[in-house]
Amino acid sequence: MRFRAYPTGAQVGALETQCGHARFVWNLAVEQLSYRAHSQRVPGYVEQSKQLTEARAAFGWLAAGSQTVQQQALRDFDQAVANWRGGTHRRPGWRKRGRHEGFRIVGPQAQRVEKLNRRWSRVNVPKVGWVRFRRTRKLANFKSYRITSDATGRWHIAFAVVPTPIPGPCDGSVVGIDRGVTITLALSDGAMYQAPSPIAVRRAARAVSRCQRGSRRRMKAKVRLARLHARNADRRKDFVEKTSTHIARTYDVICLEDLRVANMTRSARGTRAEPGRNVRQKAGLNRSILNGGWSLFATRIGHKAAGRVEQVNPAFTSQRCSVCSHVARESRKSQALFLCIACGHTSNADLNAARNIAARRAVTARGATGVPVTVNREPQHVTPPPVA
Ligand SMILES: [Zn+2]
Repeated sequence: MRFRAYPTGAQVGALETQCGHARFVWNLAVEQLSYRAHSQRVPGYVEQSKQLTEARAAFGWLAAGSQTVQQQALRDFDQAVANWRGGTHRRPGWRKRGRHEGFRIVGPQAQRVEKLNRRWSRVNVPKVGWVRFRRTRKLANFKSYRITSDATGRWHIAFAVVPTPIPGPCDGSVVGIDRGVTITLALSDGAMYQAPSPIAVRRAARAVSRCQRGSRRRMKAKVRLARLHARNADRRKDFVEKTSTHIARTYDVICLEDLRVANMTRSARGTRAEPGRNVRQKAGLNRSILNGGWSLFATRIGHKAAGRVEQVNPAFTSQRCSVCSHVARESRKSQALFLCIACGHTSNADLNAARNIAARRAVTARGATGVPVTVNREPQHVTPPPVA
C-alpha cells in the first residue's frame, strides 16, 4: 500500500540523511560480500550487527541517525543475500545516490501513524518527526513501512500489508499459468493477459545523453526520463495487482512455474525461437515482467490465493505436447505455434506450455500421466487485464 508523502522542506533534508545512512550501511555489506574473492570470511548478519554498534560508537554522524534504519538496512541485505543464494534474485548490488533512496522502519516505531482527517494521515518517522501523507485508501494492518524518494523528487511511503486472502470459487478448477515474451500471461484454459505497452523511454534517454554532464538541462532531462520509468513501473504494478486478484478469485488451484528452476532454464525457453518483427518492441516490457514482475506476481498471488498456489518445475513445458506428452524441440515451430511432431496436435505455444504447467500438478499430486485438460478450446484474443 503505497501513498505519496509530503515532507516539509526541513524534513526532506532529514529524510535524505536517513537514506544516506541506509545506503552507506548497505554498501558496506556489499563490499564485505566480495571478501570471499580474496579468500576472506564474509560476516553474517549477527556479526555485521555488532560491527554497526561499534561503528555508531566511533562515528558521531552515524550515531546521529536512527539505529532502526541502519539495523534494518543490514537485515534487508541479509534477506537479499538469502534470495540470491536461493536462486530467485540477483546478487545484491551497490546502491547509488539519487537512484536507490529509501529506508525501512519496523517494529513498534513503525506503528506511530495517526489519521488527521478524511484524506490525510501522518507518520512519526524516527529522527525526522511527523510526516504527512495522502491516504487514498483505508490502511490495513501492517508490520513495517518503507520510505522512498524517486529520481523526480517525489516521496512515497509504502506499508507492507499482506492482503487478506481471497476465497476461490470452490469448484475444483485448476489453472496453469505460463509467462511469455509475446503474451505476458497465458492461462491453460485459453485466457490470456497482456501487460500494457510501455511508454517509450528511448527518446528521453537519448536527450539525457545529449546534454552536457553536470548541466541544468541534463538534470531536467534526467527528471523527465525518471518520470517515464516511474510511470512504467506503476503500470506494471497495476497490471500485477489486477490480474492476480482476478485469477485468485476465478480458480481454486493455481500452478506457476517455480522461479528458482525457471531462472536456470530461461535461456532454453523463448529465446531460441526467432521472434517476429513486432515482438522486439514488446519484448522490452515483457522482459521486465519476466524478471521483476513475475516474482511480484508470484508473491501477490501467493498472498491472495493463500494455500492454493503450487510451484511447478517448468522444464520442457514449451517442448512437451500437452496432449500426448511427447517432448521434442522441433514441435515448437515458432514463437507462437506449437505443432506436435508425434500426434500432430496444434496449439498456441504459450497455451500449450500453460496446459503443461497445469498438468504437471496432476502428475505430482495424483501420480497419473494422462491429464484431464480441455484441448478443444481455442485461444481467445488477447484481453486487457480485467478490472479488479
Ligand atoms: Zn502430441
